[in-house]
Amino acid sequence: MRIDTLHQNQDVTLSFEVFPPKTAATYASVIEAVEHLSRRRPDYISVTYAAGGGTSHNSIDIASRIQNQFATTALAHLSCVSSTRGEIAGIVEQLARNGVENILALRGDIAPGSDFPSGGNYRYAYELIGDIKKRGGFCIGAACYPEGHAESRNKEQDIEFLKMKVDSGCDFLITQMFFDNNILYSFLYNALRKGIDIPVTAGIMPVTSAGQIVRMCALANASLPPKFKAILDKFGDRPQALKQAGIAYATEQIVDLIANGIKGIHLYTMNKPDVAGSIVSNLSGVLDIDTR
Ligand code: FAD
Repeated sequence: MRIDTLHQNQDVTLSFEVFPPKTAATYASVIEAVEHLSRRRPDYISVTYAAGGGTSHNSIDIASRIQNQFATTALAHLSCVSSTRGEIAGIVEQLARNGVENILALRGDIAPGSDFPSGGNYRYAYELIGDIKKRGGFCIGAACYPEGHAESRNKEQDIEFLKMKVDSGCDFLITQMFFDNNILYSFLYNALRKGIDIPVTAGIMPVTSAGQIVRMCALANASLPPKFKAILDKFGDRPQALKQAGIAYATEQIVDLIANGIKGIHLYTMNKPDVAGSIVSNLSGVLDIDTR
């Protein structure tokens, strides 16, 4: 199903993100995680994409299996900055042939010290969005950054560039992770003032590893509020305690988001179905899981 149709039909959507295996040895475990996650009956499951390195075919393959084998709506991430326009067009056709109807159109990260590609290839996500829109047949999502993208001069300029993505044909947005809901509410207010009125789904990261989250937040330009830092300080070296506290924190964040009218929750599952499962069980009434 197209995700814009899901947004029209449901009060709140629940979705999961998985990442593809980097080696053939871990392929089976990723499929097993996807199978477990699909049993939780999310509205869709997204698969991240890494250009090059021989893993991009795994993203397409797993998105296709989510859609066809696990009978769950798939959202295929697709980053454009490291590929030619011809390569990207080929992937889009392959996704269409495999029945995938939703693409999260991204620029992708530029390696530190390297230049933008030349030769007419993509520089920004809005160009990819425009091309997919022109082709037709896909519901298109894009990324947004409640605390601003790491390369942006300021949040206002970031929202102006975000508007270009929306105007190029993007149907919905998924946020970068954030740990203070007030940051999202302020971002949504500013986005709406700039005329961005498409559905925005909140990306929620349940934290289960202290070292990993500090690195990820630095890369993602996501700040850690004092309440969250206290959890890391107290439980950072006790994995089971941190996992419980991380699940409780994410649960509380989601309850507040839904109470304040947010229409979509996207869990960054890190391929851990048990963590996602605990959060979904905590929220089965709030998310109306039983009536799906
Ligand atoms: P853009 O929207 O193109 O923005 C990139 C930067 O350029 C921003 O600073 C923006 O303000 C600026 N900009 C935009 N337009 C212009 C313009 N016209 N002129 C000047 N500056 C401009 N990465 C992956 O590699 N694979 C994934 O699967 C993946 N999934 C993601 C999922 C989500 C929900 C999120 C939030 C991010 C994801 N990323 C992924 C990371 C993403 O690729 C990086 O954050 C990347 O640096 C920016 O991608 P973008 O699509 O937001 O780029």
